[in-house]
Amino acid sequence: MVYLDYSATTPVLPEVLDSYNKVTEEYFGNPNSLHGLGIKSHELLESAYTQISELLNIKRQEFVITSGATEANNLAILGVCNTYKRYGNRIVVSRMEHPSIYGICKHLEKQGFIIDYVDVTEEGVVDFDDLKRKVTRDTILVSICAVNSETGARQPLKTVRQVIRKNNENCILHSDMTQAIGKVNVSIQDADLASMSGHKIYGPKGIGLLYKNKNLVLTPLMYGVHEGELHPGTPPLPLIVSFAKALRLALKDIQKKEEIVRKFNEKIVAHLSEYKNVLINSSKYCIPHILNISLMDIKPETFIHALEADEVYVSSNTACSSLEPSASVYNMYKDEIRSKTTIRISLSYLTLPSEVTIFLESFDKHYQELANLK
Ligand code: PMP
Repeated sequence: MVYLDYSATTPVLPEVLDSYNKVTEEYFGNPNSLHGLGIKSHELLESAYTQISELLNIKRQEFVITSGATEANNLAILGVCNTYKRYGNRIVVSRMEHPSIYGICKHLEKQGFIIDYVDVTEEGVVDFDDLKRKVTRDTILVSICAVNSETGARQPLKTVRQVIRKNNENCILHSDMTQAIGKVNVSIQDADLASMSGHKIYGPKGIGLLYKNKNLVLTPLMYGVHEGELHPGTPPLPLIVSFAKALRLALKDIQKKEEIVRKFNEKIVAHLSEYKNVLINSSKYCIPHILNISLMDIKPETFIHALEADEVYVSSNTACSSLEPSASVYNMYKDEIRSKTTIRISLSYLTLPSEVTIFLESFDKHYQELANLK
């Protein structure tokens, strides 16, 4: 099998799975129980929390464990809107967010919020002139991802924040960092709120995290035993401990791993550039882990299934909006066919040179077959 869909989800690293299994077996006590087993679990929980806060360089009170990035995005955006709605009813989001962000916006529109969509440039980054126009005195929140999940375009968050603050110093910045953390060096504190997910960093599914600057107050989405708790319920200790381990391993040697991925990316780009009708949807802002191409005259689902016959796995755009045209590619190039024929190849430091070779051979074979058919 050649797996090139690491941006949809990653396999769990064996050492991370070992932690999960060990904690499940040996630390099954409820961390809130007063007896010895509970205390043992509570101590492990606190040490995992400390590890997470040290790895992300944030304070213990500045993050909340969630079930994934979708929940983190919900908690950030709805939590801010419910707390700060008396200051304004406008929210700005970019045109290249993950579908979960647009789902939340749709819900907020029904509650009377106005959503302003900021354009992206041909290079796939936020258009600063448009951002300046869209951020008003009534804008309480801006949400812009750190790395786009379809094209890998990285957003200059520090500049984004400066632009926002110039227009409205109270406006809060949320960033969905799900596709950035663990792939490239990123500072979580470039935003006031940031979302991430365990299953994109070789950790388990069902866990994510929301960073929240200590000065912000979020209205909870759920209510439990303790007042003001943002994620009530018994802490899922095996998930939290194995997530902390996955995060530590993901951040280790991050630049070295990025260089490995860059070489694979360059090799694939060099090969595919030989095809006149295969377009590379990339700019200098794109991280090497995500390579988006358009086949132009072959349907992506047909091509994905053709590759699958050789056990080669890629995706069309994000796993969450497969079969939809790629909004990110459309907003970059304003070309309908280009946005409807995208293939996303997502790479990892675990990818082997032989896997890249197999992928390219399989690509050549099926491209020629399907292009001839046409
Ligand atoms: N945001 C981005 C940028 C993503 O790529 C994903 C996963 N496709 C999500 C959010 C949702 O993450 P989760 O599956 O953890 O809810």
